[in-house]
Amino acid sequence: MNAKIRATVWGENVHEKKHPTVAKIYPHGMHQQIAEGLREAADFEIRTATLDQPDHGLTEEILEKTDVLTWWGHCAHGDVADKIVDRVQARVLQGMGLIVLHSGHFSKIFKRLLGTTCSLTWREAGEKERLWVCNPGHPIVQGLGPYFEIPNEEMYGEPFAIPTPDELIFISWFEGGEVFRSGATWKRGNGKIFYFRPGHETYPTYYQKEVLLVIRNAVRWARPEGSLWIDSCPNVPIEKAAEKISQKGESLHKPGEAGFR
Ligand code: ZN
Repeated sequence: MNAKIRATVWGENVHEKKHPTVAKIYPHGMHQQIAEGLREAADFEIRTATLDQPDHGLTEEILEKTDVLTWWGHCAHGDVADKIVDRVQARVLQGMGLIVLHSGHFSKIFKRLLGTTCSLTWREAGEKERLWVCNPGHPIVQGLGPYFEIPNEEMYGEPFAIPTPDELIFISWFEGGEVFRSGATWKRGNGKIFYFRPGHETYPTYYQKEVLLVIRNAVRWARPEGSLWIDSCPNVPIEKAAEKISQKGESLHKPGEAGFR
């Protein structure tokens, strides 16, 4: 295992180029600001990747060197190539951590891994969000009090069409009255997934210290543990069975043949 945690911060980087409001808040792109927040940790090695790069910046080589991938996307989910989604999914199943931020709830990779629509209710009114910690002993919330607040955010409300989380980390309350499961984890294959709600593009959310602390904690939590799981569906020949057995009945496979896919 490498001493440093190698994190790749993926950003769609489209709003920042199209909308002056967003460019003013994030002149170098939202991904660069998230990367800055991660660089505060001496044990991280950070790179960034964006949609407009070849393979969206997520080549086989880069993914092999990535322990944890963070994902922010919104208006260009449909432009993410399916072959890259396949590649990221395979890496998560092997053990790469994935942190999906805000509108990434509708990204191809999140929906693929969770297998549900991941829809929710929403409103853009710049209202206050209070994030309650549900699980004070969890590594992702270390350094926080019972809750923290973001002065202006987009509202996301229930129902959030996700599979029941393995762990619920935050519940948000919004000024308008809605609540939302705003921090949740799942395991898929050997990989850990964390969804974290804050981060609407027209507010300076990724400058807030609590938000960056949570993302740093989550990167440490999501790093692969143990060895990677390379899932190749191997056939175990009779002679290699743990106990001595003999063939009973007919097998449609010849010895050494690959399985049906
Ligand atoms: Zn948003």
